[in-house]
Amino acid sequence: MSDSKNSCIRCTVSQCQFNMVTEDYCTLRSISVGTHEADPKVPECTDCNSFVKRTGCCG
Ligand code: SF4
Repeated sequence: MSDSKNSCIRCTVSQCQFNMVTEDYCTLRSISVGTHEADPKVPECTDCNSFVKRTGCCG
């Protein structure tokens, strides 16, 4: 784990505790991506499985 910008992983999910927020980047050294579909066809079918909801802000 790391708390610095990973220039290789762009991400705009600021609700995730690993998002840099000040810039659209992830701070993890690596992430795991998966899908919730049996036959994914569009980007919306994929998920960042490393997502963890940010706590302590905005309910
Ligand atoms: S863990 Fe996934 S959702 Fe969270 S900031 Fe990194 S890439 Fe985005």
